[in-house]
Amino acid sequence: MNGSKSPPRVLKQYQSKRDFKVTAEPKGSKPAPAHSASPLLYVIQKHQASHLHYDFRLEWAGVLVSWAVPKGPSLNPAVKRLATHVEDHPLEYGGFEGVIPEGEYGGGTVMLWDRGTWTPEDPDVEAALRKGELKFTLNGKKLKGSWVLVRTKLGGSTKPQWLLIKHRDRFASTRDILLEKPRSVASNSLLAEIARDHQGNVAKAAKGDPPES
Ligand code: MN
Repeated sequence: MNGSKSPPRVLKQYQSKRDFKVTAEPKGSKPAPAHSASPLLYVIQKHQASHLHYDFRLEWAGVLVSWAVPKGPSLNPAVKRLATHVEDHPLEYGGFEGVIPEGEYGGGTVMLWDRGTWTPEDPDVEAALRKGELKFTLNGKKLKGSWVLVRTKLGGSTKPQWLLIKHRDRFASTRDILLEKPRSVASNSLLAEIARDHQGNVAKAAKGDPPES
C-alpha cells in the first residue's frame, strides 16, 4: 500500500523546468523514504498561473503523481473534470503555498486548497496507472469518499488526458465546493491574500478567488 515495491521515480522533468535560485518551490533533492508505513499524502493546490487550475497530487513511490485540473474537482458524480497528467513533483511540494515569480515556470500564486491522505481501492497502483483507471478514497479536509481517475482520448493534447470523477457515495453532492470553500486549508487565506503576503501579483491572484469573497 505504500509503494515500496515500485521503482523509484525521478524528478528530472520537474527540476529541469525550474530555476531554484529564483523560485521558492522545493527542489526535491531529499531522497524519498524507501519504505514508509505512514498513510499516503493527498493534496490539491489551487494555482493561479496564466490560467487558473487545481493541481491534484497523490503520493506514490516517493513522489507526488500529479494532474492539472482546469475546472477543479466536482462532488457531482454526473460531472467529469478533465485532468491533464503532468510531471511528478517532490513530496515536499505538498507543503508549498506561496508565490512562483512571474516569468518562471508556473509563475503565479499557489494555495494549499485541500490536504489529507488517500487510499488506493486496488493495491496495485502501478498497474492501475498503466491501465489508466485509478480508483481511490480521499480523506481530505474538503474532499472525501470514493473517486476515480480514468485516462481518455479526449482533449487532443500531446499530454495524457484523464477524467476526475466522483463516485456515488454519501460524500457525493451537487453543491459547488469550489465556491463554498475557496480558502486555504493551511492559512485560511484567499489567493489574493497569499499573493499579498508573499509579494506576488494581488490583482492577478484575485481573479482566481470567487467574486465577493
Ligand atoms: Mn500548476
